[in-house]
Amino acid sequence: MLRCVTEDNQSLIATYCEETSTRTLSRTDKLFCPNCRGTVTFNKGKVKLPYFSHKSVECEYVGSEPETADHLKGKALLYDWLQQKFPKASVEYEVYQPQTGQIADVYVDHENGEFAGQTWAFEFQHSNISAADWESRHNLYESVGIQDFWFFDKKKFMKYSKARDHTDARLRSELEKKVFNTTGFVYFLDLDSSEVSIDFGFTNRPSSNLFNGRWRTQEYIYHEPQEHSVFLSFLKARKSVNFDYSALVCDTLEAQMEIRLKYVAFVAYRET
Ligand SMILES: [Zn+2]
Repeated sequence: MLRCVTEDNQSLIATYCEETSTRTLSRTDKLFCPNCRGTVTFNKGKVKLPYFSHKSVECEYVGSEPETADHLKGKALLYDWLQQKFPKASVEYEVYQPQTGQIADVYVDHENGEFAGQTWAFEFQHSNISAADWESRHNLYESVGIQDFWFFDKKKFMKYSKARDHTDARLRSELEKKVFNTTGFVYFLDLDSSEVSIDFGFTNRPSSNLFNGRWRTQEYIYHEPQEHSVFLSFLKARKSVNFDYSALVCDTLEAQMEIRLKYVAFVAYRET
């Protein structure tokens, strides 16, 4: 985890706290899990970002994702971006939701401003998750009025065809299709470049190949347009005028995303 609290309930963020004083607090058992109040250790090494971990008790409130270097990095990128983008909102790591038992990687509460009343959960997904597990977690958030945004580790989740001359064609998993059809979009985060690829439209193209002396036609799936990535810092939220829903868009792709945004408004999140 990337957040802990001190004896007087001040939050400490692992990537920003002062090292020497935090190490002292850690040694003297004065850092605590915000959720179960168990003592935690400050870890800072060479490979992973700094983070906190429970000393002994098995915390029943920790997130479901193992704290790998990649998961820490993805969470930290999202947190830093959200802090900068929404300075008026409360942006916090790993807030426990008592109604659902979930802990979002980053939780955003808009008490005022353009998005007043909206609460967002951001999840960076690096480990495997089935379409069914994703759906039940999404439904839990929805049941308590929290809008969830999922960022999938691009290197792990975005797959391409291995067929010759078609290596830019996409191979879409059941999980991707489920997220796309339910929320309207799929976001992939590249941990090395901090670029986000937004899936919002696909096209099928047939291609004929000579295979064992016979012509065979196969369909390949392409994202349309081919270029659909943007630096995370350029991503912005766009609020629906009719109901409490926001989509993440960017200036360079927004016009091309309109059709999909309409689908989201009328199909996935239609007013009831
Ligand atoms: Zn705990």
